[in-house]
Amino acid sequence: MTFDDQEYLSRYPFIDRVLISSEEITRRVRQLGNEISNDYKDSVPIFVCILKGAYPFLADLTRCVSVDHEVDFMAVSSYDGGTQSTGVVKIEKDLKSNITNRDCILVEDIIDTGLTINNLMELLKTRNPRSLRVAALLDKKGARKIDVPLHYTGFEIPQEFVIGYGLDYDEKYRNLPFIGIMKA
Ligand code: 5GP
Repeated sequence: MTFDDQEYLSRYPFIDRVLISSEEITRRVRQLGNEISNDYKDSVPIFVCILKGAYPFLADLTRCVSVDHEVDFMAVSSYDGGTQSTGVVKIEKDLKSNITNRDCILVEDIIDTGLTINNLMELLKTRNPRSLRVAALLDKKGARKIDVPLHYTGFEIPQEFVIGYGLDYDEKYRNLPFIGIMKA
């Protein structure tokens, strides 16, 4: 049985409200997929999914991309168990693909301080990709500590802790089909 957004809300009383509904996500992801398909007509880009949070976004986004492409996965840790970004990126799982001379699109769930994606981009640049862009579902612009160019952004959101659509709290709630805010 699958639940819609409202049913999840009544089932999980600790969720304060839906910030972005599943319909809004579907619509925006489709737009981003079309945009990317136009931009990469003459290329076979590699989508680099940053685990774990970006997996639903990658799955939905790539199904809206009509040009040939590849996917690969990378896992990094940045929040040392707490809720503050350290900016230190530790590679837990590296890419299998060689990205030298390839067009890469980093797929991220959320950009908060920007420290994680900035460090990751610096690291991947040393492998000499032809191009490196970021597709982020969510952008907490107000929390930025370092300026990072985001080529494809789903939604700009306020500085609140969000869960759902890949984003966890204590490893749970990634399955929620919407982006929600937990009760304080
Ligand atoms: P940054 O280095 O940009 O501060 O942190 C990015 C990472 O922090 C994201 O990939 C995500 O794992 C985590 N993060 C930042 N904000 C949130 C949030 O509101 N909810 C959740 N679940 N994770 C977040």
